Amino acid sequence: MDNVREKAISAICSRIGDGEGSSTPSVEAVAKNYASDVFNIDQMQKILAPDILLKMLKTVKNRAALDPSIADAVADAMKEWAISKGATHYTHWFQPLNGTTAEKHDAFFEPDDHDHMILKFSGKNLIVSEPDASSFPSGGLRSTFEARGYTAWDPTSPAFIRRGRNGATLCIPTAFCSYTGEALDRKTPLLRSMEAINKAVQRLMKAFKADKEGTQVSISLGAEQEYFLIDKEFYYLRPDLIQTGRTLFGAAPPKHQQLEDHYFGAIKPRVLAFMSDVERELWQLGIPAKTRHNEAAPAQFEIAPLFEDLNLAVDHNMLVMEVLKVVAEKHGFVCLLHEKPFAGVNGSGKHNNWSISYGKHNLLNPGNNPHENAIFLTTLIAIIRAIDLHADLLRVSTATAGNDHRLGACEAPPAIISIFLGEQLTDIMDQIEAGSVKSTRKSGVLKVGVETLPPLPRDATDRNRTSPFAFTGNKFEFRAPGSSQSCAEVNILLNAIVAESLEVMAELIENFDDSKNFNTQLQAMLQRILKQHKKVIFNGNGYNAEWVEEAHRRGLPELNDTILAIRKLLDPKNVELLEKTGVFSKSEIHSRCEIFEEEYKRKVRIEAELALLMARTMIQPAAIAEYTALSNAVAGNKNLPGYKAALRSMERVGKLMDTLSEQEDELEALLNEHDVTREYVDAMNRMRLTVDSLERLVADTRWPLPKYREMLFIY
Ligand code: ADP
Ligand code: MG
Repeated sequence: MDNVREKAISAICSRIGDGEGSSTPSVEAVAKNYASDVFNIDQMQKILAPDILLKMLKTVKNRAALDPSIADAVADAMKEWAISKGATHYTHWFQPLNGTTAEKHDAFFEPDDHDHMILKFSGKNLIVSEPDASSFPSGGLRSTFEARGYTAWDPTSPAFIRRGRNGATLCIPTAFCSYTGEALDRKTPLLRSMEAINKAVQRLMKAFKADKEGTQVSISLGAEQEYFLIDKEFYYLRPDLIQTGRTLFGAAPPKHQQLEDHYFGAIKPRVLAFMSDVERELWQLGIPAKTRHNEAAPAQFEIAPLFEDLNLAVDHNMLVMEVLKVVAEKHGFVCLLHEKPFAGVNGSGKHNNWSISYGKHNLLNPGNNPHENAIFLTTLIAIIRAIDLHADLLRVSTATAGNDHRLGACEAPPAIISIFLGEQLTDIMDQIEAGSVKSTRKSGVLKVGVETLPPLPRDATDRNRTSPFAFTGNKFEFRAPGSSQSCAEVNILLNAIVAESLEVMAELIENFDDSKNFNTQLQAMLQRILKQHKKVIFNGNGYNAEWVEEAHRRGLPELNDTILAIRKLLDPKNVELLEKTGVFSKSEIHSRCEIFEEEYKRKVRIEAELALLMARTMIQPAAIAEYTALSNAVAGNKNLPGYKAALRSMERVGKLMDTLSEQEDELEALLNEHDVTREYVDAMNRMRLTVDSLERLVADTRWPLPKYREMLFIY
């Protein structure tokens, strides 16, 4: 049989033992290599002159403005270091709004008048660069004839070396903006949103008289990254995976994830070899990869690093995605980061574990004394208020064409944003609301600011995997973001809404009557705010259909339509909030809205065009071949056994072919006559049902596309 799938399978089988017997470096070697490709503080301490180091540290650690006079010296040191690591080129590394990272390499060398190569890398090269920006999305912020875009060094995220097969490049993390200073990237607003939180927390601490001169506010992020691995032999036989990152067709096999035998199962040797390679690369880049395991769906996995400072963690997650893809190729795999590569099994998310600290104290940790507890409860209730008022903005941050297929598909949180607090904390909230906080269900006596909160349990019993926004002991875990998204978008909006709420809390406290008891006033304030916003708290099963009804009764928004969700950015209340917190200007909001909507429409359009193409050029021909074979079997055999069976099969296939043909015409009409709407997705879904039914009827040897039972299980 010369079926393409059979050839692929036999090629894969010869590779399945790969990864066994490969050498394992010692723990010492791995430890010694950790962050060896990063120009971090350690490196700076070794190379930079003391006065320059001191100024540089002020910028890196305290986010002080960069002293331009040290740029040349730092650039020189960075160049020497990079060249010693084998780098021949440098690039400003940035995150434009097309969802990936961008780099434009320049060589460190230039010929002089005598054709000798000289090394050149100045402070100016380090601080700014001007790539032609005309081909990056700007959403009307910059017309193509004013193509100037500037990348500006972000000294708070250290430069690093990326190694390729034949050389190495120094990557300098940068922000990317237009000539007029508008953000064209994700880093700029992320840094602004961090500043908004910083200001708000400093103010709140002052209001609580808990401020200490020089104490830093920091936001932590731990991003859990889910992904699929499939063998590249299958991948290249699937035009849909190549072009859209997901399978547009494909019937679920009888066995997929029902037996729950993949989650946390033993990792296959070939996959483990891949994971070890990924970790080694990440560690060399100073990325603290920590956890690895099989996920719920077959061929699905997760990697999670330890949490880090938000800005760095966002950059690091971009690198994690890149390294996963590159290393997968070396192992004969393709890493799929799409939110829903396979229908009928779980999709991939990126759980966003987020917390805020003042100095060393995590504000989401109930403290050791009454005062700290009062701050904890105030922060918590500020976040509840933020999520209730601006659930729509959190939804916007996850509204992408890929995530569309995942949210609400009974495997990921629904498109309704709610908060899970857990039993004990909810009990405390109930009591605050009732006006007298006396005891928690477990033990002890609690009065805001008077007694101490009992330690909250942080164990597995208090988990709720169905909640989009869950309190998990000392952090919030936002579970709606999609696996391929940059963490930036999500955290920009989360920071913005929380900053606004913290400011409101601080202002209310500032206005307390000094002649009255502070705690009594605080308690009354928390009670009032909680009453207004507790409707967003939901501890039950978020996958349950009844929750949708309940959420509607509570008046929580359910934004199922992605385009409508994106447009929520333009709601006057949201524009006001984003402007007030300094995160976006009005024109930036409009441009982003336009870019996100455009991106959604372009992606859906590509999918629709491809679905049509595949239906006509791959599926129908296979069905016709089947039909022809059946009609040969039927012809002239009317009185023989088997005739009826062949006829019935022929009828079944024929009907589906007719249906598919009509659906092709419908989709074509949509493509020709209508801008992208939800209708496109519905039409593709209908077509998929027909194709998947055909897959179940057409002779296995004739089917041109690798099947789910192959892609998800043979590797
Ligand atoms: P889960 O049980 O939710 O799958 P994981 O261990 O896979 O947990 O991931 C949890 C993530 O949360 C890790 O990246 C971890 O470093 C991070 N994390 C832990 N504490 C905090 C915190 N205070 N702030 C932010 N992230 C945190
Ligand atoms: Mg996890």
